[in-house]
Amino acid sequence: MNYPYSRLRLPIITFLITFLVSLSSCMQGGKTAEAQSPVEAAIPVDSDAESNAIPAPDTLTLQAAIPEQSSQPPVLVASSIADAETIIARKQVPILCYHQVRDWREKDSKQAKDYIIPEERFKEHIKMLADSGYQTVLPDQLMAYLTTGAPLPEKPVMLTFDDTSLGQYTVAAPELEKYGFKGVFFIMTVSLGRPNYMSKAQVKELSDRGHVIGSHTWDHQNVKKYQGQDWVTQVEKPSRQLTEITGKPTEYFAYPFGLWNPKAIPELKQRGMAGAFQLAGKRDPQDPLHSIRRIIASGYWSAPSLQRAMINSF
Ligand SMILES: [Zn+2]
Repeated sequence: MNYPYSRLRLPIITFLITFLVSLSSCMQGGKTAEAQSPVEAAIPVDSDAESNAIPAPDTLTLQAAIPEQSSQPPVLVASSIADAETIIARKQVPILCYHQVRDWREKDSKQAKDYIIPEERFKEHIKMLADSGYQTVLPDQLMAYLTTGAPLPEKPVMLTFDDTSLGQYTVAAPELEKYGFKGVFFIMTVSLGRPNYMSKAQVKELSDRGHVIGSHTWDHQNVKKYQGQDWVTQVEKPSRQLTEITGKPTEYFAYPFGLWNPKAIPELKQRGMAGAFQLAGKRDPQDPLHSIRRIIASGYWSAPSLQRAMINSF
């Protein structure tokens, strides 16, 4: 979907006001309002809020609110924008997070190997997903599913790659493409063009090939510690740079180390982030779209281990 829900707010409010005004003038003609009450239509079906209140814009569920007898052409049919509770209640899509895709070296620490997956093992992971009938989905699709219930493939999976390392371009992307899969690459812009990291041209190429480029800050500082100008350095400028590289808006963000707090969410939304990805922590009950869960697909995991972890974690 092209217009993630945060961008829909203003149009929805404008639409609702326009609609209320025009409907009330319609009703001067003595039509019954019962079936068409905009207030009723605007209350989410599963809301437990007081029944007469118009919910906050985040929780609006607008149906095709055009009176049946109206001779006016429909101006806008907004999709249903689910509230946080509805989003949290939906079945989670398994989302995997990879870092380096390369063979282990002697000096790699035990701990680092969770974040470094040998090439053959990575290929086994991807083959298992394809053989098991998984199909990759991208963030826009995930957002449409979460916010409106738009259908996804029967066995969806999202493959994400953090930190800009070169193997993601040389090994991972071509392997995904063998199966018609697409990935999401969260770029740490300070690394662009450094040895063993992707270049701007490679990032652009991934984007042109249909993969999605998201932001992973400038230099991987913990979001929980940002103040003032840090938001510009770590989110605003990198996002602008990525947009310049890809020619597409940068609307998705991955928290460095998976660390976030509720204070970070409005800052990200202000800077155009429609969704943000953490690791396997609990989601924010108010804003699940900016605390989407992922699991790290460990370099130690065989394909069957990965499959078990996906089933257990999502
Ligand atoms: Zn990272």
